[in-house]
Amino acid sequence: GLAVRLRGVTKIYDSGVAALGPLDLDVNRGEFVSLLGPSGCGKSTALRLIAGLSTPSAGTVELSPRGTARRGSHPIGFVFQEPTLMPWATVRDNVRLPLKLAHTSGSDAEGRIDQALAQVGLAEFATAYPRELSGGMKMRVSLARALVTDPDILLMDEPFAALDEITRFRLNNDLLSLWRNLHKTVIFVTHSVFESVYLSERVIVMTARPGRIGTEFRITSAEP
Ligand code: ADP
Ligand code: ADP
Repeated sequence: GLAVRLRGVTKIYDSGVAALGPLDLDVNRGEFVSLLGPSGCGKSTALRLIAGLSTPSAGTVELSPRGTARRGSHPIGFVFQEPTLMPWATVRDNVRLPLKLAHTSGSDAEGRIDQALAQVGLAEFATAYPRELSGGMKMRVSLARALVTDPDILLMDEPFAALDEITRFRLNNDLLSLWRNLHKTVIFVTHSVFESVYLSERVIVMTARPGRIGTEFRITSAEP
């Protein structure tokens, strides 16, 4: 079944910038899809609309999360390009934040934090502070924080763009393993052709045409 369904979605910001659309997009449950395109074509806007962080100017955004949600779980996990960690808090406390916001605590919450840290390979670093971590490890913390609420849909906005090539490739591989094990729907924004093709089952190419208002979309299939 479908996890995400967008129909005729456009975004015109208050500044008058026509950032997106109209966009039709279907993402199947468990699918790994990339949104690929140059800076400014509306990738982040599309992701924020799917996340509900921004409202469309026209069209509809529908999510179909799993039936019964556990307390403290959330349909969406969001990973930004900047890890945006709290510098004064340990890795463990950073990962706990979404559970705290959902008023979930106790041994269930602590167990989930352990699980999320193990999933990203950071079990040994629970008591470290962000300043002690490399860029790649900070990104892993950010990923653990997104996974801790057990989301159905993981939205990632150029998460590895600031990392060196080797770290980035390691994280690509680890993300692929995670996806194969966790069966989550992933929508991954990137401007890297390699990354999109390497990671995804399907690449959605977004093009920004100079002289046109808005964006034109083409959907192509990339066989894994
Ligand atoms: P991408 O992620 O592909 O780089 P964005 O979605 O960030 O593209 O931006 C699409 C267009 O919308 C750009 O012209 C950008 O400057 C503009 N834009 C993005 N966010 C906002 C905002 N909050 N307010 C006004 N304009 C924005
Ligand atoms: P909403 O869905 O409520 O319109 P937006 O994502 O458009 O939320 O952002 C809220 C406000 O912040 C908008 O008025 C937008 O113009 C402004 N804003 C945020 N980021 C930018 C930016 N990069 N450039 C210009 N305006 C911005």
